Amino acid sequence: MPILNRIAEFHDEMTAWRRDFHAHPEIAFEEHRTSAAVAARLEEWGIEVHRGIAGTGVVGVLHGAGGPTGRSIGLRADMDALPMEEDNDFAHRSTVPGKMHGCGHDGHTTMLLGAAKYLAETRRFDGTVHFIFQPAEEGAGGGKRMVEEGLFQRFPCDMVFGLHNWPELEPGRMAVRSGPVMAGADKFEITVTGHGGHAALPHHTVDPVVVAAQMVLAIQTLVSRNVSPTEAGVVSVTQIQAGSAFNVIPGEVVLRGTVRALTNEVRTLLESGLRRIVDTLPAAFGAEASLNYIAGYPPTINADGPSELSAAVAAALLGSERVLRDVGPSMGAEDFAFMLNERPGSYAWIGQGGSALGCMLHNARYDFNDEILPIGASYWALLVETALPREDARAAAE
Ligand SMILES: [Zn+2]
Ligand SMILES: [Zn+2]
Repeated sequence: MPILNRIAEFHDEMTAWRRDFHAHPEIAFEEHRTSAAVAARLEEWGIEVHRGIAGTGVVGVLHGAGGPTGRSIGLRADMDALPMEEDNDFAHRSTVPGKMHGCGHDGHTTMLLGAAKYLAETRRFDGTVHFIFQPAEEGAGGGKRMVEEGLFQRFPCDMVFGLHNWPELEPGRMAVRSGPVMAGADKFEITVTGHGGHAALPHHTVDPVVVAAQMVLAIQTLVSRNVSPTEAGVVSVTQIQAGSAFNVIPGEVVLRGTVRALTNEVRTLLESGLRRIVDTLPAAFGAEASLNYIAGYPPTINADGPSELSAAVAAALLGSERVLRDVGPSMGAEDFAFMLNERPGSYAWIGQGGSALGCMLHNARYDFNDEILPIGASYWALLVETALPREDARAAAE
């Protein structure tokens, strides 16, 4: 069963939607055109539509043929583009300067729409599906805001699922893992304050550059000497700003960077270690420092049961040899984590690579591979039919 036949029939239609989204990218919380198109299509297919959740978010509610049963499932797609210039020259390239669908969320939105169209036509499931179209995945936390605005109180979901294209994986393959799948990602800013002066008279100064240099090295021990060698963590200092002249010792240095971890335990350990270094190391040099720690996305952690279900559905669709179960997690971050913090669920990767489309996410020449639209839509549809089987199918199975 490579793809569902009915979905294959509207592959061209899905391709047209996807390319239209690609040509009209909208970034975080500005997805007005995109969400209007999503809502209009869902309504056209008789799906109950709720707009304005987290600003531009949309939720579609569809009951199976037997009406509501109390059982429910949430399927989530992200809709936003990136603030970057596209470097492609095909006909559907971005028409908006400085904005681009460089992460394939145009394809994610389209695959979920394809599943919604099929499921609204067939309704071969018992229970309720919530189609969750979220804004602002790229750094602005649209998923978090949907949760804060009562997503799961308004639209109860027993389980929630996400799907992201993956350029390093061939088309026709999927990858599903249990446990941590994407890292938590936080930001930090450290201000080291000394006492500036003439570079030829360092004994009259407290040189914050020397302190900052020691601090960068001390920070490198957080992962190597605090985190267990079998666990993953990253602390990268990515910006150092100080000074204005070759012969002036500045009064202040600002360091910025990112903290990544696959578990909340390691994330907390790294934050407290960073704080300890900032609080104690400068004193040895007569300097001071302050830390501004900015919590970002938590780790994305897949629950076991929903991951098994996701993998079984992918295997039914693609063949089990095409479903990777032993892939490692990515140290990138994903705001679907906020939904997984609230409900058990799983986030899968769908192969998108091959040919010229093997280009990595967030690259100016990236484009979503339209060939996989029916695969993703079929996965979603089959996931619903498997998670919420018809009463007669359940009776037959018992
Ligand atoms: Zn992205
Ligand atoms: Zn993305």
